[in-house]
Amino acid sequence: MSRRLLAVSLLLALAACVHNPVTGKRQFSLVSQRDEIELGKQGAEDVRQSIGLLPNPQLQEYVAQVGKSLAAKTERPDLPWSFQVLDDPTVNAFALPGGPIFVTRGILAHMSSEAELAAVLGHEIGHVTARHSAGQLTRAQLAQLGLGLGMVLSPDLAKYGELASAGLGLLLLKYGRGAETQADELGLRYMLNGGYDAREMLDLFEMLSRTSGKEGSRLPTWLSTHPDPGDRLKETQKRLGTLNLDVSTLRDEPARYLRLLQDMPYGQNPRQGFFQGTRFFHPELRFQLDFPQGWQTANQTQAVLGVSPQKDALVGLAVAGTVPPEQALQQFFSQPGVQPLTVAPQGLPPQSRFFEARTEQGVVQGVTSFLTHGGTTYQLIGYTAAGQLAAHEPAFRATLSSFRELNDPAVLGVQPARLDLVTLPQAMTLEQFHARYPSTVPLEELATLNGVAPGETLPAGQQVKRVVGGTQPRSP
Ligand SMILES: [Zn+2]
Repeated sequence: MSRRLLAVSLLLALAACVHNPVTGKRQFSLVSQRDEIELGKQGAEDVRQSIGLLPNPQLQEYVAQVGKSLAAKTERPDLPWSFQVLDDPTVNAFALPGGPIFVTRGILAHMSSEAELAAVLGHEIGHVTARHSAGQLTRAQLAQLGLGLGMVLSPDLAKYGELASAGLGLLLLKYGRGAETQADELGLRYMLNGGYDAREMLDLFEMLSRTSGKEGSRLPTWLSTHPDPGDRLKETQKRLGTLNLDVSTLRDEPARYLRLLQDMPYGQNPRQGFFQGTRFFHPELRFQLDFPQGWQTANQTQAVLGVSPQKDALVGLAVAGTVPPEQALQQFFSQPGVQPLTVAPQGLPPQSRFFEARTEQGVVQGVTSFLTHGGTTYQLIGYTAAGQLAAHEPAFRATLSSFRELNDPAVLGVQPARLDLVTLPQAMTLEQFHARYPSTVPLEELATLNGVAPGETLPAGQQVKRVVGGTQPRSP
């Protein structure tokens, strides 16, 4: 018997045979419902840590309530469903296995009714009820995912990990065309079950085809993970054509929805830190830090990082809590597998050491510094594979020694732009609206935000979004 055959039969023995709740068919799946829920839970925690939730309890509660009432009338009402808004300007929404569903503030800003929100949530619920992601994952991926989300054995290094985002990438799978079509069909059905005007799904696709990816975000856009919205719009139109809808009984709920968007940040929020070239500024925490030229940078909730062009070294900063730097350094070295190297770094803050750490990715070597600023202890760190330290040390040293107090009042005072809702006192075109109620975004963007074609006349009493304020510094 060949080894290969043996491997295959073992794999089959491990596989669970699950009934697909939507199709009712037996589905060959390697993932049990328990695994599916567990994976989703871990993934959701990772998403919340790396991207962060929008701090707006009313809006969170509202989205959760709309989502849960939709999910209650599906084939899998008993899953631990959750619906949360991420503090991210990208236009996106996604589902994790077993029930966690996320929408960004970016997609919320671009919608104008509860029915449209129901279309997005319905589609994502469809991916979960039809077990699209659970069905795609293999055991090997599961093992990798466990590693990715649990990270390397050192929890401190975990904060910086690319691995965390590798795990996230696996969960944010691009589904096949068939799965997307099925999620659209299911979403439409769930919208109707919830009493929503299913025609709003068309508005959603129109909006998606007009929005383009915003730069510098932590998430991929919906457009980059989904088929062409134009095609989906046509398919949905056909589907709607076959239904005998009594639209007079269906609801849109624009007012209830729009009211909650008042003052929501729009676009990047520079108060959470921003890059200008390779220099990073954090107005809220009042510090700045320089990254090496040509390195890819990312501002995550827990850490700000730079990755070398060859992706073989990482340098970054994370909050280490409120313990004094000496104690934080001791704690770092009390982790299993982490050891100081004998040489002492020159020209860095006092609590700095070279180190070696045994991780599940192999042995890494690097340099770390702990320092206090504004009552918070920060860890700065640069690391690479053992043997590469000498090559990367100058870059690590330059970044670690560049930490400075930020005191430029112009930078300290930056504010995000915000949405403002205006109730029209009389009918007017969007151009007239733009002239009378100025926005800090161009007319085309305003049209996309409101789902309005240029030249279209808006009736008196309609609530129209505009964008106000925002002193976002331009990235060079
Ligand atoms: Zn989808």
